[in-house]
Amino acid sequence: MQILKFGGTSVGSAGRIASVAALATRERGNIVVLSAMSGTTNSLVEISEYLYKGNVPGAQETLNALETKYRAVVDELFCGDSTAFARLEPSFRLIRAFFCEPFGESAEKEILAQGELMSTALMQECMSRRGIAVGMLPALDYMRTLDNGEPDMAHIGTRLRRLLADNPGCDVYLTQGYICRNSHGGIDNLKRGGSDYTASLIGAVTDADEIQIWTDIDGMHNNDPRFVPDTAPVHELHFEEAAELAYFGAKILHPSCVLPAKLHNIPVRLLNTMEPQAKGTLIFNAPPTGRIKAVAAKDNITAIKIKSGRMLLAYGFLHKVFETFENHRTAIDMMATSEVGVSVTVDNDARLEAIVDDLKEFATVTVDRDMVIIAVVGDLEWHNRGFETAVLGALSDIPVRMVSYGGSDYNISVLVRSCDKVKALKALSQHLFSNQEGA
Ligand code: ASP
Ligand code: MG
Repeated sequence: MQILKFGGTSVGSAGRIASVAALATRERGNIVVLSAMSGTTNSLVEISEYLYKGNVPGAQETLNALETKYRAVVDELFCGDSTAFARLEPSFRLIRAFFCEPFGESAEKEILAQGELMSTALMQECMSRRGIAVGMLPALDYMRTLDNGEPDMAHIGTRLRRLLADNPGCDVYLTQGYICRNSHGGIDNLKRGGSDYTASLIGAVTDADEIQIWTDIDGMHNNDPRFVPDTAPVHELHFEEAAELAYFGAKILHPSCVLPAKLHNIPVRLLNTMEPQAKGTLIFNAPPTGRIKAVAAKDNITAIKIKSGRMLLAYGFLHKVFETFENHRTAIDMMATSEVGVSVTVDNDARLEAIVDDLKEFATVTVDRDMVIIAVVGDLEWHNRGFETAVLGALSDIPVRMVSYGGSDYNISVLVRSCDKVKALKALSQHLFSNQEGA
């Protein structure tokens, strides 16, 4: 069995929904995970923001625009037969019902869930009208998180297998990405972009042959196509390389998606709905070694230099530094140490002032904002020669604030100023990939 996840733009119009209906049923018996139509979750977030502020007319206006859009999609998809809109009416009715009630987090979560409920309802209708036998797997009946927010794998597996057994022999099984229930049974979600995670969790609990993430680009590229011309898709990546790239900014895959697939050793294939024959990217545990694969950048990074008179021989210093970040529930991304101090980076600066105040109790602190982590990903196992030199050589014209190497076998990261980001990305592509054939 394969798990096929289609993102928002892949189901973003009547035409795209119809082509996914065909594409997703080329083989029988697979599970199809859908995101909301593109733009929908943003509109639902906007409606919730209005309602938090008590601005009902604002919410009304956004919802009306959304309804107009869905009516047009239904019209086009079902050739003017607007009775199909009845499938979406419960969602619009539910959202409107919140307009005259006090608004809170559980109402917001229910509103956010409607995007995926509507896209799957439309797809089910579209497939059924084409004579395809669809088995619905309602995510709210099996996808659940624990108190700590982690997925409840045992519950998900048991419930999902039962739902599949109750609907044997369907041409295709259809389910919602992103949405779930929390440990109290309330409607919740797996955070923005979480449909990839849904697909990976389903793949893990069903021991699928493959997880396919269908988007509108032909796989993961070796650099960011928004800033660098002539990027190329990377055809094969290790799970760890994909995780680093997703975390450090490659938008195509949600970072949390990689772990369940890796733990259960299920290959993940990134494919393009606009070009279904393209090779895409295969993420698995035995890709070719001995080469640098790709570069990604993570924006809005703050670097903090923490200096003590003497660090390494003064045991307990690093402990105090880490404890400070832990107390403020702020994760550290990158780190570099020396005898007299340590530099760390954070991407969440919500608690920065308080952190700096606490650090100043025992150290001298300098803060550099507007920095970018450039992550170079590939086979960077330390016995390989020349890769570090190639990376730093490419950046010889750019001031580098920090370097981190040796933390994993797959990554070397450098920290540069935001204003040098594009120059750094281009220089790395030029030096690392210009003579490389498709990876
Ligand atoms: N619809 C959700 C979002 O826009 C989940 C997803 O697309 O993966 O974030
Ligand atoms: Mg996505």
